[in-house]
Amino acid sequence: MPVLCNSCAEKRAVLKRPKTGHSLCKECFFWAFEEEVHQTIVAAKLFKPGESVGIAASGGKDSTVLAHVMKLLNERYKYGLELTLLSVDEGITGYRDDSLETVKRNQQQYELPLKIVSYEELYGWTMDAIVKQVGLKNNCTFCGVFRRQALDRGAIMLKVDKICTGHNADDVAETVLMNVLRGDIARLRRCTAISTASEGDGVVPRCKPLKYAYEKEIVLYAYFKKLDYFSTECIYSPNAYRGYARTFLKDLESVRPSSIMDIIHSGENLSVKEGVRMPVQGTCSRCGYISSQPLCKSCVLLEGLNRGLPKLGIGKHHRFHEKILSQQPFTEKEEKKLKSVEF
Ligand code: SF4
Ligand code: ZN
Repeated sequence: MPVLCNSCAEKRAVLKRPKTGHSLCKECFFWAFEEEVHQTIVAAKLFKPGESVGIAASGGKDSTVLAHVMKLLNERYKYGLELTLLSVDEGITGYRDDSLETVKRNQQQYELPLKIVSYEELYGWTMDAIVKQVGLKNNCTFCGVFRRQALDRGAIMLKVDKICTGHNADDVAETVLMNVLRGDIARLRRCTAISTASEGDGVVPRCKPLKYAYEKEIVLYAYFKKLDYFSTECIYSPNAYRGYARTFLKDLESVRPSSIMDIIHSGENLSVKEGVRMPVQGTCSRCGYISSQPLCKSCVLLEGLNRGLPKLGIGKHHRFHEKILSQQPFTEKEEKKLKSVEF
């Protein structure tokens, strides 16, 4: 006998919600999913009427669902937001070029303006060229640091008040785990925040409207809505450590689906013991971007690339900052150390 929807008790259920275990019909699932995102936005006061918001769009399932739901809720509940899609082109042939085509189609489907900023125009380096120099071990360090700044620069060009990103509950739980595993207290404290305040000039506030949405539900939503998204993994994705955290989380979820939410709640309620040293935020003396060191991570990585010393920004090399700032050459011994990368 077909199972009836637990919510409307009229239509046939087509899915079991991963988050609650309820059997729902398509329409009731759409409604529940959208309402939960709306409640998240309202409860955390993520937006104010009249604000202009950049939606970080990669063409993947999370950001495609985010763009779709933001447009829908903006109209349904009259948020009064001006929405724009903001994409970063890392310069990864065979991956980002294809996913950007998806974003361009989304732009047409959702009738939203689109701005693309590229690593090549911002830094003079594509990820393809970076991987050629640094190999496949530390490439995501470069890419992650550059992307963060690229989104800010794009947002400033667009003059948006805020950026929203497609981070979902699984991503947040995974980041909590990663920061526990690394003992990164400063990040652990920040990573569960649903929105970041403006941290200074050059940094645009960010928020995560899908923070409490399970990845599995995002996939179901995209599937049943027949959204147009790109599902291939990055060709340079080696991040083994994060992979372990992800697998561990998925294993926990299969035994107890609430694990994802429980880990987020644990992260949200952690408090840092008094006296723990936290990095003091200042600004980069070269580019003015937020940094707890004389030079921001992005400038150090870039200097390393431009000097052919890719290890400069990997690990802690703060003692080299003065040398970089005063354009002093490195000694032969230092150069040797900073050149050797494991591929
Ligand atoms: Fe960049 Fe690494 Fe993500 Fe690929 S997997 S887009 S290289 S951060
Ligand atoms: Zn800088």
